[in-house]
Amino acid sequence: MPDVLTYVLHFEGAFNKNSLGAVSEGAARAEEIGGQCHALVLGGDDLTDELCSSLGAYGATKVFRARGPEGLAQPVIDAMAKAIDDQGHGYALFGGGLLGFEIGAGLAARKQAGVTMEVTSVRAEDGKLVAERPILQDSQISVSRYRGDLGIIIGRINAFEVVSRDGGSAEVVDLDIEYSSWSTQASMVQRGEQRGADVDIEGADVLVAGGRGLGQAENFKLAEDLASAFGGNTAVAATRAVVDAGWYPYAAQIGQTGKTVAPKLYLAAGISGAIQHKVGMQSSENIVAINKDANAPIFEFSDLGIVGDLNKILPKLTEAIKDRKGS
Ligand SMILES: Cc1cc2nc3c(=O)[nH]c(=O)nc-3n(C[C@H](O)[C@H](O)[C@H](O)COP(=O)(O)OP(=O)(O)OC[C@H]3O[C@@H](n4cnc5c(N)ncnc54)[C@H](O)[C@@H]3O)c2cc1C
Repeated sequence: MPDVLTYVLHFEGAFNKNSLGAVSEGAARAEEIGGQCHALVLGGDDLTDELCSSLGAYGATKVFRARGPEGLAQPVIDAMAKAIDDQGHGYALFGGGLLGFEIGAGLAARKQAGVTMEVTSVRAEDGKLVAERPILQDSQISVSRYRGDLGIIIGRINAFEVVSRDGGSAEVVDLDIEYSSWSTQASMVQRGEQRGADVDIEGADVLVAGGRGLGQAENFKLAEDLASAFGGNTAVAATRAVVDAGWYPYAAQIGQTGKTVAPKLYLAAGISGAIQHKVGMQSSENIVAINKDANAPIFEFSDLGIVGDLNKILPKLTEAIKDRKGS
């Protein structure tokens, strides 16, 4: 069957953005192969008819609502397997993230289905879906075509754009699930907010990104001062090296395992330009890099390169922008 099933994570009455991207992508691709996109949600009384049917605004025609613990992989695998057995979906599509990987892999094992992870593009070909994923440090594209009844597609985080449609409302169908004994062994002890969840780097026009060259967590103040001098829609971003070191929140990480951004200006301070970082910011309109090493790889894909010590350059830049703005 050409129908696509997606899983939609929710928390405190709001759907996860990555999941909404999966619904949008699933709907667009399902239409190309003559199918529909369905969504599965799992939770308690918070999953009202109104909330569930609102997924129609992203292209879902039907929403399967199951009662069960939200945020754990095994119960979702049970629920998705049941929906697929009942409805005969041809594809299951996930927005990525750790939970998406876990559910997708578990579902692949359960249904003996082919799975492709870190997918950045899905297209229709001869009435079937084809998944593309970058390989070999993103220098090549690997193409997956699926055999059998079910193909599983797990996106790279934020790879699928959220597209809302006017006036969509999905049918809500309650699903009775008999959970496997192992699925009820784990329970959610605490569900916390992502560190730095308030940092909106994806929507920013200007990003001041800091890397290990900042030397220590406290020096992120140099990047923050510059960002506030720019004002407006400006935010601070970071490399994985520094978020792993605990210098800045994970929510600000750019790159392969972080966020993909395309601001008007990306100012990289003390960032070497590793391929895993580059893939998350290379589409920026203008890239300005400050690095003390003239041979740093970041200069190979920067529009403007400044060779020097960021400790001297960032404060001067901040002052220059303040002067220019008269603030
Ligand atoms: C599977 C995998 C996934 C990964 N995913 C990501 C990801 O999503 N995002 C990501 O960013 N990385 C990711 N990485 C890590 C990546 O390979 C690099 O290690 C990381 O990007 C390096 O971060 P950095 O540029 O801050 O540090 P470094 O590579 O240590 O670079 C620091 C730079 O600062 C410069 N510098 C030092 N002092 C100064 C100074 N005073 N003034 C100016 N310049 C100075 C140095 O010359 C150097 O170029 C991943 C790695 C793997 C294996």
